[in-house]
Amino acid sequence: MKPEGHGLNTRIVHAGHHLDSTGAVTVPIYQTSTFAFRSAEHGAQLFAGADDGFIYTRLGNPTVRAFEEAIAGLENGERAIATSSGMGAVSTVYMALLGQGDHMVSTASVYGPSRSLVEKHLARFGVTGTFVDTSDAANVKKALRPETKLVYLETPSNPAMLVSDVKAIADIAHAHGVPLVVDNTFASPYLQRPLDLGADVSLHSVTKFINGHADLVGGVIVSKTAAMDARLRPLMVALGCNMDPHQAFLALRGLRTLSLRIERAQAGALEIARWLESRPEVAWVRYIGLPSHPQHALAKQQMTGFGTMIAFELKGGLDAGRAVMDSVKVATLAVSLGGVESLIEHPASMTHAGVPRESRLEAGITDGLVRYSVGIEDVADLVADLEQAFAHIPVAAGTRG
Ligand code: PLP
Repeated sequence: MKPEGHGLNTRIVHAGHHLDSTGAVTVPIYQTSTFAFRSAEHGAQLFAGADDGFIYTRLGNPTVRAFEEAIAGLENGERAIATSSGMGAVSTVYMALLGQGDHMVSTASVYGPSRSLVEKHLARFGVTGTFVDTSDAANVKKALRPETKLVYLETPSNPAMLVSDVKAIADIAHAHGVPLVVDNTFASPYLQRPLDLGADVSLHSVTKFINGHADLVGGVIVSKTAAMDARLRPLMVALGCNMDPHQAFLALRGLRTLSLRIERAQAGALEIARWLESRPEVAWVRYIGLPSHPQHALAKQQMTGFGTMIAFELKGGLDAGRAVMDSVKVATLAVSLGGVESLIEHPASMTHAGVPRESRLEAGITDGLVRYSVGIEDVADLVADLEQAFAHIPVAAGTRG
């Protein structure tokens, strides 16, 4: 079946799959490193790009291509590049679009390693970045310089849960003659399609919602045009951060239930966010589905749902947060997100520990911020779990109600 022209749920189930001569209903795993040529001439044609076939798995593989086609279709992009990890996708984009002396503008509360890669590593090659609160598009405009070659957004951002206006920022980037890349990990293609909003590239940590089962690490980069894909793919191939066929098989298997998983988890997330907001122990809650979220209206406009990620801080700060993280029994104390299981973590000492404290605070990542990725368990169990964990907050750490 050709999924084009069908609804999003139908496309999530069928995208990227073409029945082969065996009639296999799922995409087979082509677990091979290399592919035989029919003749020396055929091999030469493939290398010259005059024929479309497979050469060597780092360059392309049928299982990986099925996954790439699926995600490109769901994001309304021309082509996609699957990578070994989300950071493989981020590295490929930076390395392809930035050169010596170039500058990028990005979200201050971007995933920690996406920031450290610029400030700690690419800095050695003369690349610089300005990290601003992109939830106010005017900050992006102010940060542009003549040598700015890339605008990079993460929306919603990890873990501050700030939402940035993709359309407005795409206009700003394009007026400056540079591409806009959006890390769409927190929304997934089910809730947000940045290319439709004007972005040139949308990328994901496939590890998260797309796969959804905490059993692989992967990434994907979707380009709006074949020309952009042609700038990016050679870097992925040269860096050697290709997705493996078995990873691609698992990612496709996870993808097929994306809509069911997100619908259920985000319904739970709203309930948990409301419960947190009602609790006296809680200083603040940031969930984009709550009317109290500063960009709630923007999220409603550019996304089709509010997702499953909640950030909150307890009045008792870090000590109280630690007590809760150490006491949950249904949720698991672990980094990562977007899986069927609920996870809780502390960004300042874990995912964002590599970002200097001052930069973290500027980005809204306070020392006491706790990040909760809501899974698909019974929401009553998740609320009861948090409630019993709140009972472990030491009295000295602040209000217990
Ligand atoms: N982008 C975001 C928003 C993330 O949350 C993560 C990982 O947590 C990454 C990128 C990096 O992905 P990976 O861990 O698959 O390399």
